[in-house]
Amino acid sequence: MSARDTKEAAGRLGDIRARMAGAMRAAKREDDAVLIAVSKTFGAAGISPLIEAGQRVFGENRVQEAAQKWPELRAKIPGIELHLIGPLQTNKLRQALGLFDAIHTLDRPRLAEALARERDAGVALPRLFIQVNTGSEPQKAGVLPGDADRFIGLCREALALEVEGLMCIPPAAEDPAPHFTGLAEIAKRNGLSRLSMGMSADFEVAIKCGATHVRIGSALFGSRA
Ligand SMILES: *Cc1c(COP(=O)(O)O)cnc(C)c1O
Repeated sequence: MSARDTKEAAGRLGDIRARMAGAMRAAKREDDAVLIAVSKTFGAAGISPLIEAGQRVFGENRVQEAAQKWPELRAKIPGIELHLIGPLQTNKLRQALGLFDAIHTLDRPRLAEALARERDAGVALPRLFIQVNTGSEPQKAGVLPGDADRFIGLCREALALEVEGLMCIPPAAEDPAPHFTGLAEIAKRNGLSRLSMGMSADFEVAIKCGATHVRIGSALFGSRA
């Protein structure tokens, strides 16, 4: 890793942080939003300069990929926080629990029940976000908006899982704002305060709509191969 790599990473990070701060000011928000740097497809050479530049919260969408690169990166520096933002198969749950500090993709009873079983067996669970398929897209993970209240209730009441907030990925070709406000409404009526929403192309809109966690990949790392 060269000094130039670190300087460039610091520049990109500073730029995103400034845009986040501008969006917070424009929305008259005085809280803080967490920047999750989405490092999927990038290896240590891409990630290390960002760590060097001070970034500590990262997101990955595949358990296997995270297992291959993060233990070594993490061993070098304390305080790294890793978030799973992609679908989680129950057969990868144990592995995921050993890697991630937060899971943004809790979206079905089977997975919720498996998490509760691990908790009952003494495993410390990561922070949990429920993914809502706000566009009701058949190919996309997430609980359907009409089922969200019931699923949130199942997780919290029947299974006693601590749910931190909600997450969504709006349909690619649509105005994301109605999806973000829709997610915020579901959160509000269920008394949830955290919203994981907004990516490189729309994080400022998401912040305006109440995002507390934005997930930014290409704007920080460059385009993915
Ligand atoms: C890849 C990914 C992101 C980041 O996308 P960019 O457009 O590169 O910022 C955010 N959220 C999820 C769930 C992703 O899979």
